[in-house]
Amino acid sequence: MSKIREIEAKVLLSHCKNPDGWFGVKYNMNLYRGCEHHCIYCDSRSECYQIADFDGELLVKKNAIELLRKELASKRVKGTVGTGAMQDPYTPSEARLNMTGQALEVIAEFRYPVHIITKSDLILRDLDKLVEISRVHASVCFTITTADDELGKILEPGAPSVSRRFEAARILSERGIQVGITLMPVLPFIEDSIENIVQIVRRAHEVGVSYVVPWFGMSLRTRQREYYYARLDEHFPGLRARYERHFGERYSCSCPNARELAQAFEALRADLGMGTNVKPYRSHSAHQPALF
Ligand code: SF4
Repeated sequence: MSKIREIEAKVLLSHCKNPDGWFGVKYNMNLYRGCEHHCIYCDSRSECYQIADFDGELLVKKNAIELLRKELASKRVKGTVGTGAMQDPYTPSEARLNMTGQALEVIAEFRYPVHIITKSDLILRDLDKLVEISRVHASVCFTITTADDELGKILEPGAPSVSRRFEAARILSERGIQVGITLMPVLPFIEDSIENIVQIVRRAHEVGVSYVVPWFGMSLRTRQREYYYARLDEHFPGLRARYERHFGERYSCSCPNARELAQAFEALRADLGMGTNVKPYRSHSAHQPALF
């Protein structure tokens, strides 16, 4: 468990001028800085985000709920409030701090739509609030990068198992919440088998997931790269050299077989009738991003 430190935020919601084509988010919200899931590939620990001790300290925006209320009251345009792109809103300390739970109460009160990305079944604690919000619009994306619980423990050591995430997806979808999977990153030379992609999509379909958003690759930036390579040395001896040879200092690192993975993915998800983006709260003309 990370050390908790309270901070004061000046503004909570950041406005996305053009809602993205995947999730339709108009206002982005981060209640925390840092994350206790400690995924070895996490992009949010990159130097550019200036979180000094991403893995050791969880920063809590103590005035976030008050700000959220004030900012929603002053918005002229209603749009989807998104959370989870930078930190997991259901990081383990959320069980005690209940920042996300309180934020959902405010969102329900103002009748705003919501989109959440998480790796945690702790979200089930807020099931009733999400059902209430879903009268307007609620969608939840579980990030799943491997179908293998054992591999998941190595790659995402602080997060609930992949099986628990699939089970949570089932429960949410049974209650009428729109549920998706963010199938990203797909780690080159570790998760980039067609078998892995097929298993994730099939299991997602079985539990009622309606869309899957893939990216067949990963990002690597300063500080994120060093952390990731140190974990590769620990768990996958020899793989660092392969990465260095293949990607050098590149930021965007596509799986060498990304095209084959994308083709297999497309064929299967079309066959199963699954989408690649959330059914938006409003129709947006946003551009649909490429798969790799
Ligand atoms: S859950 Fe997301 S934000 Fe948290 S460590 Fe993992 S990748 Fe980073």
